[in-house]
Amino acid sequence: MNILCVDDSATLRKIVSMSLGPLGHTVAEAENGKAALAALAAGVPDLIVLDVNMPEMGGVEFLEERGKNPAWKAVPVIVLTTQDEAPLREKIRALGASGFLAKPFQKDQLVAAIQGLGKA
Ligand SMILES: [Mg+2]
Repeated sequence: MNILCVDDSATLRKIVSMSLGPLGHTVAEAENGKAALAALAAGVPDLIVLDVNMPEMGGVEFLEERGKNPAWKAVPVIVLTTQDEAPLREKIRALGASGFLAKPFQKDQLVAAIQGLGKA
C-alpha cells in the first residue's frame, strides 16, 4: 500500500521507509504537517504514519486540517509518540488517529501496528 510518513527526523523517515519498503509498501515522506497536507492534495495514501512534534505544523494541527476533508479523514493514521506526549493521546484519538506507536520502536512493532489496522 501507499504510505505517507510524516516526521521532521530524516533518520526516522528512513527507518520507516526501510522497514516497510521491503514488505512491498511504497513510502512517501513529508517533513512536517504542511508538507503532508501538500502530499495529500497531490494524492491520498492508504495510511499515514505521523509524528507529533514537528516545526511549521505538528501532528495535532495536521490531524485537525485532515479532518476537514472527508477523503483525507478516511485515511488511517498511526501516530508516533514519545513518553512526554502521552497526555496528548486522548486529544489525538479524538481527532481520529487509528493507533499509537511509542518511540523508540522496533521494526516488528511498526509492522504489527499496521497489521493491526487490518490493512496489511
Ligand atoms: Mg519530531
